[in-house]
Amino acid sequence: MFEKISDPKDVRLVEGHIPLEHRYTPGVAGEAFFASLMKGEFLASRCERCGVVYCPNRIFCERCLGELDADMTVGPRGRLESFTVVYVGVEGEPLDEPRTLGLIRLEGADTVLLHDLVGFDDPGPEIGDEVEPDFHPRNRRTGSMLDLRGFRPIHP
Ligand SMILES: [Zn+2]
Repeated sequence: MFEKISDPKDVRLVEGHIPLEHRYTPGVAGEAFFASLMKGEFLASRCERCGVVYCPNRIFCERCLGELDADMTVGPRGRLESFTVVYVGVEGEPLDEPRTLGLIRLEGADTVLLHDLVGFDDPGPEIGDEVEPDFHPRNRRTGSMLDLRGFRPIHP
């Protein structure tokens, strides 16, 4: 039965655990993106009306809401737009080794991808660095963002 609580101090606490399982589905666009990632390609969508190229591909344009197709690939090289070093994991746990995450704009794209930066020696990454994907071997790819170790610098 419902009991109306008007004073927040009257809220009772019941401790326990609720067993929940979930399965993440990347959706129509995400399925196509990850399938192309297994082949080492970055699938993208271009909005004819806005001219914006989205990577990963989308099914609609965030700006004009127009329908989009996964009609092109971008990259694989890109430019580092920003980065940060993280010392705490997503659950708040301290990391054994800090991770450096970057926002990468692949050649031909107007949006950025977030991924690890790998293989940067001292003094570390700089905004504007040219990068390329560091894929696992094809036989180890599973159709996820983790088919990439991350993006590494392109040394001129
Ligand atoms: Zn648009």
